[in-house]
Amino acid sequence: MSDQSDRSADDRVTAWVRGAVRSMETYPVAEAQGMIKLDAMENPYQWPDEMVKTWTERLYPLELNRYPDPYAGKLLHRIRKAGLVPDDASVIFGNGSDELIQIVMLAVGGHGRTVLAPVPTFVMYEAIAAMTGTRFVGIPLRGDFTLDIDALLAGVREHDPAAVFVAYPNNPTANLFDRDAILALISETRGLVVIDEAYHIFSDATFVDQLARFDNLLILRTLSKMGLAGLRLGYLAGAVQWLEQFHKVRLPYNINVVTQATADFALRHYDVFQDQVTRILRERARVLKILDSLEQLTTYPSDTNFVIFRCDQCDADAIFAGLLQNEILIKNLNQPGTLLQGCLRSTVGKPHENETLLNMLSLLVNQ
Ligand SMILES: *Cc1c(COP(=O)(O)O)cnc(C)c1O
Repeated sequence: MSDQSDRSADDRVTAWVRGAVRSMETYPVAEAQGMIKLDAMENPYQWPDEMVKTWTERLYPLELNRYPDPYAGKLLHRIRKAGLVPDDASVIFGNGSDELIQIVMLAVGGHGRTVLAPVPTFVMYEAIAAMTGTRFVGIPLRGDFTLDIDALLAGVREHDPAAVFVAYPNNPTANLFDRDAILALISETRGLVVIDEAYHIFSDATFVDQLARFDNLLILRTLSKMGLAGLRLGYLAGAVQWLEQFHKVRLPYNINVVTQATADFALRHYDVFQDQVTRILRERARVLKILDSLEQLTTYPSDTNFVIFRCDQCDADAIFAGLLQNEILIKNLNQPGTLLQGCLRSTVGKPHENETLLNMLSLLVNQ
């Protein structure tokens, strides 16, 4: 294209794309080719060969010329059978739980509406608020990453949010918040409280047992962190009255035929994922112990498949860059002047990956 049309495309974009969108940034995904990839909380393990073979046989008869079941009924049945949601809760599926966060905000957010969350937390709550024209209010955690329940309840009273998002366990701080504090939050909030249990398989803690008690409670889950990040499937459980509204703002066939069949198949082999989780948890304990022994760092407890640590007597940016130079990709959370000052986050990988990370890290913190 000529310079002329470049310029006029810029002008037209300025004229027509909403300011809220123009001021957003595209979700950054780091280049990871050839690296030890510990930046995105992926399960490092693949399926046993025999399982892959059976899976491909299940895919064979799928009718890709037909639209998928809009409600993913078979998959829902499987999720109930696996005991993941109570029988009396309704369920809606999303193309990843990210899409469900968007569906919630399309339904309850928008101009003049506020959503609230303790921060730092999962960045998509604020990003999706921005793209749906919803105001986002973040209530800071305490210095030790625990919930400041008084500040949170004050925020709820002041802003009367349409929805409060609580990641439980929280990303990027890796911890579970106080259960009684969350129960108080649900009681005091007039709007929705979405408990995002993306890491539930690593923690055992859940609020699903509270669904029957609170009509403003929703539980959000994903299959990503247990080992199906590439599949893109999330589910949201709660009262049918809410979910009926959400179905209206969900695109009709958002969960494709292959995802429905694959998730159904995977959940029949839930024990395979649980075994992988056991290995990850064993590694998590080992990684934390070694991190703890590095006196330049402060480590924090984890109820997830990642660890967060703070460079007290070292330079987080330099360490991140040094790891990258050695083809180890973690997440740099460092934001001077915030709760995440000096913080780095690493997914728990395979033993040899963690070993490489820890060896390199102990060299770098001593430089
Ligand atoms: C990773 C993550 C998600 C997003 O999961 P997808 O299903 O892959 O979209 C949601 N919430 C939290 C807290 C996460 O860490």
